[in-house]
Amino acid sequence: MTEKIVKATAQGRNGEIDFDIKLADNKIADVEVTKSSETPAIFNQAFGKLKENIIDRQSFDVDVISGASIMTQGILDSGKAALNDAGVTVKAKNVKKAHQEVTIDTDVAVIGSGAAGLIAALRALSMGKKVVVLEKNGYLGGATILNGSNVVGTGSKVSARLLEDAAKDSPARLVRDITRECRGTNYPMLSELLANNIGKAVDFVASYADVTYQKAETQTIEHSVDRQIEVPSESSYELITKLAKAFEAKGGQILLDARVEDLETDSEGKLHALTAEGRTQTTHVNFKSLVLAAGGWGARDYKQKKTDIPYYGPMTSTGDYFNFTKKLNLASRNLDWYKIYPHGLEVEPGIAKLTTYSTKEATDMGAIFVNHDGKRIVNESAPYTHFRDAIGEQKGKVAYIVMDQRTWDRFYELLLKYGFTADEVTGFFAKDGKESPVLVKGDLKTVAEKAAIDYDNLKDTLDKYASYVANGKDEEFGRDPKFMHAYEGDTYYVIEQKQRFCTTLGGYETNSHMQLLDAEFNLVPNFYAAGEIIGGANGHDSMPSMMNSWSYASGFVAGTEAADNAN
Ligand SMILES: Cc1cc2nc3c(=O)[nH]c(=O)nc-3n(C[C@H](O)[C@H](O)[C@H](O)COP(=O)(O)OP(=O)(O)OC[C@H]3O[C@@H](n4cnc5c(N)ncnc54)[C@H](O)[C@@H]3O)c2cc1C
Repeated sequence: MTEKIVKATAQGRNGEIDFDIKLADNKIADVEVTKSSETPAIFNQAFGKLKENIIDRQSFDVDVISGASIMTQGILDSGKAALNDAGVTVKAKNVKKAHQEVTIDTDVAVIGSGAAGLIAALRALSMGKKVVVLEKNGYLGGATILNGSNVVGTGSKVSARLLEDAAKDSPARLVRDITRECRGTNYPMLSELLANNIGKAVDFVASYADVTYQKAETQTIEHSVDRQIEVPSESSYELITKLAKAFEAKGGQILLDARVEDLETDSEGKLHALTAEGRTQTTHVNFKSLVLAAGGWGARDYKQKKTDIPYYGPMTSTGDYFNFTKKLNLASRNLDWYKIYPHGLEVEPGIAKLTTYSTKEATDMGAIFVNHDGKRIVNESAPYTHFRDAIGEQKGKVAYIVMDQRTWDRFYELLLKYGFTADEVTGFFAKDGKESPVLVKGDLKTVAEKAAIDYDNLKDTLDKYASYVANGKDEEFGRDPKFMHAYEGDTYYVIEQKQRFCTTLGGYETNSHMQLLDAEFNLVPNFYAAGEIIGGANGHDSMPSMMNSWSYASGFVAGTEAADNAN
């Protein structure tokens, strides 16, 4: 056997992807990635499918993976070019399938394979129903796979085992916390639905999908009691993988690359069928109940420039349902509500990446936030909402963290651990403060000039802060002295902090059975919904973990109701 390795490099979304094409007897035996900075939850799934197709077809002339087309097209183009440059000709197999039309009859159809969709689907399946999930991307998980898996366990057996505080917690206490933190902008019926069902949903997921939980490493102060739990990998990619595995093992069907584009009602106006389009298949599904769990629409609002807050969510959150449900005239609310965080770097115009972990550590180590005038803007150790609102009030909606070498070293370490590459950070320094994201290093005067911060004020601010540290009292903002530390040395680092958003907090209206309503507030027969597409449970400002909690609880209820409706 003659073996050969051809090396190739593709341009991904976050930098270069290096891969080896392994040839045996002039056939493609394997394609192995040696370097990638892409988001693993998406990359592993999309690349896995792409590789399967390449080996199957013995060619790089295959379809891109839906929802990851830039990255997969890059791999296909560079693989083709690398083989060509190496003078390798592989005999391709002609296995390209003709486009086909398929009809499926089912009890429950679910649109979307995020947490809400898969939990609804698994729940309906557990109640003895035939269930099919349609997912437009060529991989599972939507926005869900990008998050850290934290969820509240209020009322669950899981929490009773894991959390000392579990007995102090209750659905009523959770509703009180939600209401306080969003300043009463929540819809009580949905908050109560969340609080009364989250425990059941967590226990259901734990037992049906064999998901294990641990006490979440971070218990955030917005929750009045320790109630946050997470999966061991601290990634919802694990949750989604286990939900999908359990669902398919128990007889559920998942169709990837199946974008729902049309819904059909019968002569009595009851919803009964849908059509989904894919690269190789048009699928018609006849159902008794439909669950819409198609996620948020942040990417749509970013593209349409409906907000100037940089977006950091998936580009696939495009709100397709606004088109295919138009004829049903669904009631909706608060479509301009976003979950806004601070801790954003604007890495491309309109696109943010988050520095939450680094920023939190920097503030714990005593760093301060200043504005263009060189003045402090907030108690840096207060809940993040204070910092978020303070940034929003600044010129250009930007603030800066000022760090010494010791703090920067830790900040940088955490940047690399959570989503940034060393090359990327070098690129930020190379911009020298002239464009976003601003990241500069030098003595105080140099960093002030490069970041366009008033030097005299900045110096005055740091001098005053040093005296607060020495006296153990923050005269300006009352910061807890345990987070106040003196700056060391003459080298400073300044990095920008902007607001960022990805999650939409408004959405369609449902009743307490997660059944959708039309603009006249009539029930739409057979139509249920769950997850981010339904707004209101968390009001204008969801606490940490509460969007996941909403996906769990609403998915559980929608799955139960959709299954009952199919009887
Ligand atoms: C980076 C990031 C971090 C986050 N961190 C947290 C956190 O720490 N805690 C927290 O509580 N929340 C967090 N969130 C929010 C949370 O992840 C979401 O609110 C939640 O996952 C939404 O789940 P979902 O199932 O409703 O939607 P999604 O997970 O987005 O799933 C919807 C699915 O529907 C599919 N779909 C859409 N249209 C169609 C169509 N026409 N046909 C077929 N399929 C379609 C989509 O492709 C997608 O896969 C975060 C979000 C992001 C992006």
